Amino acid sequence: MRSDPEKCIGCELCRIYCPVDVIHTKPRSPDMPGKGKYYVVIDEEGCVECRCCVRADVCKSGALYQPEMQWPRTIRAAFSDPSITFAETGVPGRGTEEMKTNEVTSRYKRGMVGIATEMGRPGVGARLRDLEKMAMALAGIGARFEPKNPVTAVLMEDTRTGKLKPDVLNEKVLSAIIEAEVPLEKFRKALEAIREVGKNLESVFSLDVICPPEADGIIPVLPIIAREGLEVRINGKTNLGLGRHTNKQEER
Ligand code: SF4
Ligand code: SF4
Repeated sequence: MRSDPEKCIGCELCRIYCPVDVIHTKPRSPDMPGKGKYYVVIDEEGCVECRCCVRADVCKSGALYQPEMQWPRTIRAAFSDPSITFAETGVPGRGTEEMKTNEVTSRYKRGMVGIATEMGRPGVGARLRDLEKMAMALAGIGARFEPKNPVTAVLMEDTRTGKLKPDVLNEKVLSAIIEAEVPLEKFRKALEAIREVGKNLESVFSLDVICPPEADGIIPVLPIIAREGLEVRINGKTNLGLGRHTNKQEER
């Protein structure tokens, strides 16, 4: 995103809508064309192309504009603007629906654990270089990446190693989700690997764990999580699947 200094009147209304705070106010020098004492500039390196500033529809002087984007810059918009649907996967947003509705779709079967690392948050964003580190750590313990997930389908060069395409590594997005699954017996190793790689990341991340309960109602990942000294937040978000039931699994 860019702002046209000649059209900008420095009202700063757009600034509060920027989730990564890259719209900065500058004083207008006397020899600069345009109205107002101030104007804004957008730090293009930090901008994640979410279009929040434009979608807020607060700029009445038409100063904000979107230059044509080329790959790999287009990645920023695809992962940061929720109105964009990935052509490669047909999936809008950062992850896939099944991650939140496993009780409906049953992607993750008994004996398997779904792991999602949600990289980035408003205020900081996520660097794709960090995504690669996390993906490679998960690949190192034998995780299988979800093929319909945009990180796997669009960014990954090699799903066996978790390596991303080299030309996307310097890109920044508002957030992106790595989705993978591991057998239950590898879940502890996965937690260790995530914890280890997390020490060297610039981007913040949160961890989602998806695990169907056993027939007796026991959730087998809970004692493993507790042994690793991690807390399961009881006030975490719970997604209830209220949609059409597509579960074809006989055992459930
Ligand atoms: S497109 Fe998003 S990140 Fe870029 S300046 Fe606008 S609000 Fe900020
Ligand atoms: S809303 Fe428009 S005029 Fe106001 S500071 Fe932002 S770009 Fe400039």
